[in-house]
Amino acid sequence: MGQRKGRRVVLFPLPLQGHINPMLELANILHSKGFSITLIHTNFNSPNPSNYPHFTFHSIPDGLSETEASTNDLVSLLLLLNIKCAEPFRECLAKLVSDASEEPIACLISDAIFHFTQAVADSLKLPRVVLRTGGASSFVVFAAFPLLLERGYLPIQDSRLEELVIELPPLKLKDLPPKKSVVYVSFGSIAALSEAEFLEIAWGLANSEQPFLWVVRPGSVHGSEWLEPLPRGFLEDLGGRGHIVKWAPQQEVLGHLAVGAFWTHNGWNSTLESVCEGVPMICMPCFSDQKVNARYVSHVWKVGVQLENGVLERGEIERSIRKLMKEKEGEEIRCRVSKLKEKAINCLKHGGSSCKSLDSLVSHIFSLES
Ligand code: UDP
Repeated sequence: MGQRKGRRVVLFPLPLQGHINPMLELANILHSKGFSITLIHTNFNSPNPSNYPHFTFHSIPDGLSETEASTNDLVSLLLLLNIKCAEPFRECLAKLVSDASEEPIACLISDAIFHFTQAVADSLKLPRVVLRTGGASSFVVFAAFPLLLERGYLPIQDSRLEELVIELPPLKLKDLPPKKSVVYVSFGSIAALSEAEFLEIAWGLANSEQPFLWVVRPGSVHGSEWLEPLPRGFLEDLGGRGHIVKWAPQQEVLGHLAVGAFWTHNGWNSTLESVCEGVPMICMPCFSDQKVNARYVSHVWKVGVQLENGVLERGEIERSIRKLMKEKEGEEIRCRVSKLKEKAINCLKHGGSSCKSLDSLVSHIFSLES
C-alpha cells in the first residue's frame, strides 16, 4: 500500500508477544487517525509483515546467540536486548529520520523496557513516547521501589514473604516483582587475567546461582583470544542464566533495574558510575589507585565487599555474591549505597560541591585570559 501524505510515527515494540500485541493495536489506531506507521523490530520474535500490509517494517539485527534468544531467564534477556539493540536501532532510526523522501516523523513510540531509546531519540531530536504494556496498578508498585528500598522491604527476604506492605495495601511482600538479581561483571578497559583466574571467576559465577552479565574483552585473558578456556557448553549448561559480552554500555547497564551488584576492578570511573547508579560493589582491585578506591568502598563508605584472599578462588567469589545478593549484610550495603547515590546526585545539582568546583575552575580559566 502506498504511503499517505501526512505524518509518520515510528514504533519499536519489545519482542515478546504481550508487548508486541498492544503496540500493534496502538499502531492500528494511529493508522486509522491518519498517521503512516513504520515499525522497527528485532529478528528475535519478529512480527509477520504480511499481516500488516498497511505498515512499513524495518528489521534490525539483535545480535542474540541461540542460547541468548530464549525467555528462560527473562531478566537477562531484557538486559541483553537493551545492550545489543542499541547501535543497530540508532543506525536504523537515523536513516529514517534523514530520509527526505518520506513524511516527517512526529515521534518515536517505544516500549518502556527499551530504556536505551531515550538517549537515541534525544540525540536525533525526536520526541519519544513510551508505551507501558503493564497495568497501572503494577506501575504504581514499580514507582514505589525507592520508597520500598528506603523502608527496608527490599531486597525481599524469604522469611518475610507473607508480610503486608503497609504502604501498598493489600499487597504482601511476595507480590512485589522480584528485581536487582543480575550481577554485572567488568574489570575496565585495561586489566587482564590469567587463565586460572578467569576460570575461577567463571565457576564462582556459575556456583553463585545468580544471573550474570560478564564483560570479557577480547585478549584480556592471557594466552587466549576470547573465551577458549571456558569448558565446552559452560554457558549453555547455565540455561540462559549467564551471558558474556565483549563490551557493554556500562553506565546504562548499571542504571538498569535488573542489576543488583557490580563486580569491579574499582577503576575510579567504574566506582563513581556504580555509586551514581546506587549499585553495591564486589571489589577486586588490580593496580594503581584501584586498591585505595576498593578499601574506601568496602571499609569507609561500606557500599561493597572486597575479595581479599590474594588468590582468586571460586568459593570466596560464590560467598561474596551470596552475601551481597541474599544476606542481611548485603541489604544494609544496598541501603547505604542508595543513600550515597543521593549525596552524589546532590553534589551535581546547583550549589552542590562538584557543581561549585566546576564553576570555580571555569572562573579560574577566565581569570587566566590576558
Ligand atoms: N566501560 C564500558 N564498557 C565496558 C567496560 C568499561 O563502558 O565494557 C567504561 C566504564 O563505564 C568506565 C571506563 O570504561 O567509564 C573504564 O574506566 P575505569 O576508570 O573504571 O577503569 P580503567 O579502564 O581505566 O581501568
